Amino acid sequence: MKKAPRIRICPECGVPRRISKENLWLNNGKIVERKNPAHRMIFIENDSITGVFRTIEEIIGVSIERIIVESQRKLSYDYVSHFVPGLIIKLVRLTHIDISSRSTALQGQLMGFGDIEIIGKRLRGDEGDFMKLGVRDAWFPAALAGIAAGALEALIGKDCTATYEETSPGYHEFTTTISAREKEFEERLPLPQYSNKPGDIELGRCGRCGGPGALRDFEWKIGPGVIVNRKSGQRMVVSGPGEHETIFNELEKELGEDITRVAAEAQRRFVKNGPFTAEDTRDLEGFRTRLALRGLGNLREMEWKGDRLRLRLENPCMHPILIGLAHGLFELASGGEGEVNWEAAGDGDLTVEVSPKG
Ligand SMILES: [Zn+2]
Repeated sequence: MKKAPRIRICPECGVPRRISKENLWLNNGKIVERKNPAHRMIFIENDSITGVFRTIEEIIGVSIERIIVESQRKLSYDYVSHFVPGLIIKLVRLTHIDISSRSTALQGQLMGFGDIEIIGKRLRGDEGDFMKLGVRDAWFPAALAGIAAGALEALIGKDCTATYEETSPGYHEFTTTISAREKEFEERLPLPQYSNKPGDIELGRCGRCGGPGALRDFEWKIGPGVIVNRKSGQRMVVSGPGEHETIFNELEKELGEDITRVAAEAQRRFVKNGPFTAEDTRDLEGFRTRLALRGLGNLREMEWKGDRLRLRLENPCMHPILIGLAHGLFELASGGEGEVNWEAAGDGDLTVEVSPKG
């Protein structure tokens, strides 16, 4: 049997210390990495991400898997090659030392990516090299495949391709094939820039670890690599919004559809199974806090004007998620169909207005 990893957990809120140490929940609706505050994070319901991409596929009737794998591969390459010290990369390339460190897999488990293990590898620096991961309850297989390939490319300096399959129910095997070719230059995928307006959100802190107190409503199952919302039972993940927004952008480039609208529609369909309720549209403070805990931005205004609902957010991310959420909540609250319009202002604010479909 595999040993459960040893990990320090806050005795008060139950959150792994590494999570509350490495991420900062700011008072302006953003979560950022402590070491690299330019890198924004979100803490969000799994279905809000994977469900949206699945529904996009249903709506447009085309598989978007390749676009997801490719964009995640490029970003992961970029990320690892910038943040892993050059010396370590050189050592790995020279010696082929164990790059499959337990620590990297553990990091994924703490973020809710599933139970990750290395099940095979061959690293001799020639044709035929590969790395094989097995993941139980993988949160987003297409994205994980891309991430694994990109990280290996950065460490080894060779072109990599990734495939995956569900070999038994709930268990995916990811194979990253390493070519003998040197990695070729590729254009970088731009990550979105986010606004950074000041805020005054009071999230309430855990007295022991200083993380947001509300995180005690979530259970970190470390071995299985799963985070669960204790109230709704839904699975959560810690992830970067930019990584997903890049997929939206690539989809738009390749398919030319109005992807924001399609993605917002996908999110709208998810709302009735989601963590928010119709009451949220009449509870500005509560809703603001729940959005901030997820790192989705600072809800500054929300009001019903007659039968219209209008919201304004500062420092928003993942526009389709927020637009679809507003749309879905309007329909839950009003019991009728809504029509949604939005405006992204130059200063980064997002205004969403939903009115009854006329
Ligand atoms: Zn704590």
